[in-house]
Amino acid sequence: MDKADADYLISLVRAIPGFPKEGILFRDIMPVLADARGLSILMDALVSNLPIANDEFDAIAGLEARGFLFGPALAERLGKGFIAVRKAGKLPPPTVSESYALEYGEATVEVERDAIRDGERVLIVDDLIATGGSASAARDLVISCGGVVAGFSFIMELSGLDGVKALGDHPTSSLLAMP
Ligand code: AMP
Repeated sequence: MDKADADYLISLVRAIPGFPKEGILFRDIMPVLADARGLSILMDALVSNLPIANDEFDAIAGLEARGFLFGPALAERLGKGFIAVRKAGKLPPPTVSESYALEYGEATVEVERDAIRDGERVLIVDDLIATGGSASAARDLVISCGGVVAGFSFIMELSGLDGVKALGDHPTSSLLAMP
């Protein structure tokens, strides 16, 4: 992606101070998806900025909810299947769960037990990485299911939070670094 395209995407991302709570600057990806040119630039950039070669992974896992908005389209473009990593209680049994710490309390994510085959190499995608807590939980879930974490792909990375470091030693790409 060249600078003009990156600037165009950044111009579409809406920044909302104090949402969903005080102290958070929320980065809203929805206007990018709503814009035909923005969506096209985004999908092309995700394809051309994969952290690994297309033959080095077998499937894409997307995190609820915004990883569901572009993960299946990316998977289809790359000839892969899509695995949904959902919040607890949404998927029918049998499921595998992973809990992780939030600033206050705990969250749990789940996949359907048969969604990941033994040894399947999975690329994990989400719209944004902040602390890396959600993506780390998805990583642990893939491993609990017998899969292999091939890498991570994000649209945005919040610089200064070092979220990528929390993921461990996996190839990672993010298209836009946001302050
Ligand atoms: P984290 O687990 O801290 O890396 O947070 C990443 C998850 O929370 C992603 O699913 C994001 O969609 C969401 N998220 C965290 N911080 C923000 C933010 N500032 N703007 C938009 N989404 C966020």
